[in-house]
Amino acid sequence: MSDDLLSRLADLIGPTHVLTGTDMEAYAFDQRKRHESKPLAVLRPGSTEQVAAIVRLCAEARVPLVPQGGNTGLVGGTIAVEGTGALILNLGRLNRIRVLDAADYTITAEAGCVLADIQAAAEAADRYFPLSLGAEGTCMLGGNLSSNAGGILTLRYGNARDLVLGLEVVLPDGRVWHGLRTLRKDNSGYDLKHLFLGAEGTLGIITAASLKLYPRPRQVETALVAVPDPAAAVTLLGLARTGTGDSLSAFELMPRFAIDGAREILGRDQDPLSAASPWYVLMEASSGMAGPLLRQQVEAVLETALEQAIVTDAIFADSGEQVRKLWLIREGLPEIGRKIGGAVHTDISVPVSRIPDFLAATLAAVADYMPGIRPYPFGHVGDGNIHFNVGRPADMEGAAYLAHAHAITDLVHGQALVHGGSISAEHGIGNHKADELARIKDPVEMDLMRAVKGLLDPAGIMNPGKVLLP
Ligand code: ZN
Repeated sequence: MSDDLLSRLADLIGPTHVLTGTDMEAYAFDQRKRHESKPLAVLRPGSTEQVAAIVRLCAEARVPLVPQGGNTGLVGGTIAVEGTGALILNLGRLNRIRVLDAADYTITAEAGCVLADIQAAAEAADRYFPLSLGAEGTCMLGGNLSSNAGGILTLRYGNARDLVLGLEVVLPDGRVWHGLRTLRKDNSGYDLKHLFLGAEGTLGIITAASLKLYPRPRQVETALVAVPDPAAAVTLLGLARTGTGDSLSAFELMPRFAIDGAREILGRDQDPLSAASPWYVLMEASSGMAGPLLRQQVEAVLETALEQAIVTDAIFADSGEQVRKLWLIREGLPEIGRKIGGAVHTDISVPVSRIPDFLAATLAAVADYMPGIRPYPFGHVGDGNIHFNVGRPADMEGAAYLAHAHAITDLVHGQALVHGGSISAEHGIGNHKADELARIKDPVEMDLMRAVKGLLDPAGIMNPGKVLLP
């Protein structure tokens, strides 16, 4: 990259927002530490116009750009791949909420808004923005949309893409698509926003979005339920959806390891039920109406399930503090993975009805592969998304175990595909799974994706090394 380009970029956005030294470190790392991120510079524009001007300069000079928000992604989607000569374009300064229209139930926010700030703005207007995930305190809207984030409420409200009404996008030639419509009905041609949602910044840079808001839940019931096996969990899911008038908002499956592992690895001793169970469901139902009805409905569902031996025990959270404690069990699982010093992480989905067969087959396959291996599959059973994570045997060194990471991932992904599933449910493809995507995806689909990429970004300057490899 020429010094001339760098100085023109500095003229454009101000020299303090063009980082080239050690101050790049805060932006140039990979959450999963699988690859190094080596940007030539980090740019921090302050407006859509500045983003467009940067893209025009870089398109002219054929210098690639990696769009980045909170950099909380797990598949290396926002790293500058070594050898690509890419610049990171961080959108954190585009952090304004432009409009909130309570009557329209919409909010228009910029890509650098932290997800929790959008949730808070909605709540202040007595509205609800239902995208919710572990990283919500630091992840940013642009990344949520570019990765089509899922999270714990997908069962009820859909993925990120289902919450979007319109987009503002800087295209790879520097033009701006002003598509910030807030219409619920708009059949005037191709729905182009879906090209950019989930594209992981490979087709353009999302700079703002118009989002759907919902009525705020007035009554929430949270229960931890012991179930004998995953098949019972899936049966309970059906009973609970019917028995609550489809008021379920979250339905998370966890193995016993969530409680034993938390005690052994995180030093947290919490077992709210009287007897140990091999599996648990953390379920949440919510209603826009306050009152006792929802609790009565959930209790009736659990009574029926107890009679049918689908459920062996259950406890309700009766205070905000208890709700927090129950969720802490579920939220501890990724933390155990980080602390275990040798765990393989996956993010697969299968049809909900096939979860029990997928789990049985995959648990058998990994146990067969390595004695003592500690699988702890958990996740969003309500939408078919399982994080089938696999910890090292207690007596094996982390590094020796991680030498098997590829083989173990292949086993899990292979079972997901056999069961009609996907190798990426909610984290995306990024850099980490791009090779594998090309191997497993239908060739016709790969051709179509490459054709779209070639049409929008013929010079290949948008997020090189992600999703589609050259
Ligand atoms: Zn998840």
